[in-house]
Amino acid sequence: MISKKLRNIIREDKKYLFQNYGDRLPVSFVGGSDSYLFDQDGKRYVDFFSGIAVCNLGYNRPQFSRMLHKQVDRILHTSNWYFNQEQIEAAKLISQLSFRGKTLFVNSGTEANEAAIKLARRYGRSKSSKRYQIISFKGSFHGRTYGGMSATGQEKIRKGFEPLLPGFKILPFNDIGAFKKEIAKNGNVAAVMTELIQGEGGINIAEKAFVQELLSICRKNDILTIVDEIQTGIGRTGKHFAYQHYNFKPDIITIAKGLGNGIPIGAIHTRDSLATYLDRGSHGTTFGGNHLACAAAIAVLRELKKKRTMNNVKVIGKYLFSELKQLRESVSLIREIRGMGLHIGIELAQPGMDIVKIALENGLIINCTFERVIRIMPPLNISLKTAREGMNILKKIFLERVAQQ
Ligand code: PLP
Repeated sequence: MISKKLRNIIREDKKYLFQNYGDRLPVSFVGGSDSYLFDQDGKRYVDFFSGIAVCNLGYNRPQFSRMLHKQVDRILHTSNWYFNQEQIEAAKLISQLSFRGKTLFVNSGTEANEAAIKLARRYGRSKSSKRYQIISFKGSFHGRTYGGMSATGQEKIRKGFEPLLPGFKILPFNDIGAFKKEIAKNGNVAAVMTELIQGEGGINIAEKAFVQELLSICRKNDILTIVDEIQTGIGRTGKHFAYQHYNFKPDIITIAKGLGNGIPIGAIHTRDSLATYLDRGSHGTTFGGNHLACAAAIAVLRELKKKRTMNNVKVIGKYLFSELKQLRESVSLIREIRGMGLHIGIELAQPGMDIVKIALENGLIINCTFERVIRIMPPLNISLKTAREGMNILKKIFLERVAQQ
């Protein structure tokens, strides 16, 4: 039942805003606390979505709020004409949690990937004028600007926006044969861009053997590896970055989403020698890495350094996986449970949007991606009590489905 207040919000949305997000779910959140959200009418929800893996520390957390308030009172923005101590501190923390190198701050995920593509092309073209091609994979999602979209391996994202950028090749994911074949006939590849768990593509995990072989071919052929950690990074998979599960060091990582816990910020991080390819005047952004955004990143990264937070991802992830696997035994609608840490996909035998809507009515926020994959990405510091509360709602919905059949 939609309240009068919500009906009014929906009417005004349709009147004043682009309708590019299609039918938004019938709720408007006005507050949050820990891993709970509150709607326009005061109803409480367990959050298993974190605003698409963004609010990784949950809501209204005192330490994070204090850091932001302090920064708001001090200074928000000055521009990249000047030195910025918050940028330096945030970059230092990124180096500590990933690998030693340099960071360039931007404002979003797609912008981080644009910067990575620009850097890779500069690098490739320093070897040969034709070496500008970027390989990416089917099912991937790298953003909505022209570079990100050209690398994205999903037709529905690209449709109607052609011509896309030249010099992008999309190959099947986890298919080393196809990759080898491409490299054998194409000497103009500058970089490979990949997610290690395709998030928007339905929580598809890169196989270890695929990654190892890909890496070895890239090294042999001087091809850069760009790992898109925009959804998997910042602790989501149980390590600070997903590549750390694979025992290798990419040339470039791109980060965004959880980095600001809700304050827009993105970043590209690479080793010192590669950072020189985006030299003076070659790239930049007005807002990128402003004082407020970097203060948010510092607070997030300091929290990630704590064993307690990363341990929580493992403990809660294990609990959710075990509950979901048990649930699958009695629910034939559930095909497969996939993921790592708190980046979990439940593949269904049919479209899952109605489950998302029923969950919302029952006070649980989940998401459906790639039509049939229910995605679960709670805040990294969610308590076991709240995780149980959400899991019980989800179980009830699936078991009621079984009873109806
Ligand atoms: N790359 C990945 C893996 C993503 O999941 C996303 C967003 O969902 C992006 C890039 C684009 O990020 P943004 O929406 O911040 O531009």
